[in-house]
Amino acid sequence: MSASPALPLVILKPREADRIVAGHPWIYAGAIMHVAPGVKDGDLVEVNDHRKHWLGLGLYNAQSKITVRVITHEHVTVDQAFFEARIRAALAIRQRHLPGATSFRVVSAEGDFLSGLIVDKYDDVLVVQTSALGMDMRKPLIVAALKSIFNPRAIVERNEMASRKFEGLPEANGMLEGTLDGPVTVTLNGLKFETDLRAGHKTGLYLDQQANYQRTAELIALTPGANVLDCFSFLGGFALHAARAGAAHVHGLDQSADAIAAATRNAAANGLAEKCTFEAANVFDWLKAQTTVGPHERVIPKFDAIVLDPPSFTRNRASVPDALRGYKEIHLRALKLLKPGGLLATFCCSHHVDSVTFQDVILSAAFDTRRVLRRVATFSQSPDHPFIPCIPETEYLKGFAFEVVR
Ligand code: SAH
Repeated sequence: MSASPALPLVILKPREADRIVAGHPWIYAGAIMHVAPGVKDGDLVEVNDHRKHWLGLGLYNAQSKITVRVITHEHVTVDQAFFEARIRAALAIRQRHLPGATSFRVVSAEGDFLSGLIVDKYDDVLVVQTSALGMDMRKPLIVAALKSIFNPRAIVERNEMASRKFEGLPEANGMLEGTLDGPVTVTLNGLKFETDLRAGHKTGLYLDQQANYQRTAELIALTPGANVLDCFSFLGGFALHAARAGAAHVHGLDQSADAIAAATRNAAANGLAEKCTFEAANVFDWLKAQTTVGPHERVIPKFDAIVLDPPSFTRNRASVPDALRGYKEIHLRALKLLKPGGLLATFCCSHHVDSVTFQDVILSAAFDTRRVLRRVATFSQSPDHPFIPCIPETEYLKGFAFEVVR
């Protein structure tokens, strides 16, 4: 990496530099005092404070709400070697915090100070998402860097996010390198998961739960022979970990028939078929049916452990009240179905619902069901989705494990 040639300048207004100096990469139009004439969307620009002191380099896009995304504070050339060095540095963090893992998020956008770039590794296949124009235009450099570091069997592009239109980008999905015939089988914590990297949820699996699968299974294993319910089970992530850890039986629920079929195959592939059942159902309806009783009947608690890992119920701030009603509903019903001493592992992947609010909803459900809870674990996103406190947007997944005191 050598010194950068003269680049178009973007000069910030007074008092707008601190956030950038602190490490946040986003610059909105309102923070900008001056843009060099002739700057084109996607260009690399030099960012200065109002005194024309250097702040860093960023990718410019006037079509986006985020006009500049700062990608480095150093004087460098943004070429293949730049991406190679940055991706290797990101990889080293994963090797340090998830030693032995073969599938993980290699680059987590803002979490790795590469706003607009996600790279997931599924054993020998990589999946790339570019959600910002400047990154998208540099895909050839990124692909070349990835080939040089990983020598992957294939690189898949999963750019069908609706958010790309706010960057002036079309949706795209296909192969950037190599070929892929059908689903692949990847290993997570020693368990095999079949997943369709070209069409599955997210980029294939919920890698952000990798560490939480293990910890939740350890807590479930404290009750030998547990009867477990995995709500929103997708490919069986929590279910299979619980079954391997010693649960007697796990029942998984997901509304997607494809996910249920894949989860059933995954249980069999791991020799856990006898302990696992999966059912295509709407969790809200299923829990309601299980907890609706006649006037003189009581709900019989059946489960030693229940996992709740719903999709984000919020798209924006305005939908938070509805989302909270949804969270409360599933917690009310789950608490009724848990035996005394039972374990509730519950997750919320909405950035708009913070952990205090989330816990308040759970406590309100506990009050209504007259249950008292002991908190035995707190969860966050796995370390391959780094949380950078000076970039609050990098925190989204939170969760708790509670034991039912009474
Ligand atoms: N626990 C999973 C991830 C869950 S993601 C894992 O670790 O991999 C959320 C899942 O909820 C998706 O698979 C989606 O199909 C399912 N889903 C969404 N709404 C649902 C509902 N109302 N009832 C049942 N499943 C639902």
